[in-house]
Amino acid sequence: MYDGYTVEEKTCRHCQKVYRWKKGLDRHLQECGKDPKFGCPFCDHRSKRKENLSKHIINRHGNQVIGPVDYLIREDTTASQSPIPNRN
Ligand SMILES: [Zn+2]
Ligand SMILES: [Zn+2]
Repeated sequence: MYDGYTVEEKTCRHCQKVYRWKKGLDRHLQECGKDPKFGCPFCDHRSKRKENLSKHIINRHGNQVIGPVDYLIREDTTASQSPIPNRN
């Protein structure tokens, strides 16, 4: 299998992970070295990817969710910058 990219081009410079597909590396680069920044509003679970956290919420807390899951997920950047107001 060859997708037109060399192994070097498919290796992460930060952690030396090698990907079979450039696409995989591209996706990895968006999260490599970063802390999980999406926090579950119901428990301590954290995720680097919003879609993964959405799945977690639906699977684990589906019965507690009333609105769209996306609305519940806040991105933990540099604190207090959340555009979403606290709702309790
Ligand atoms: Zn990496
Ligand atoms: Zn949770």
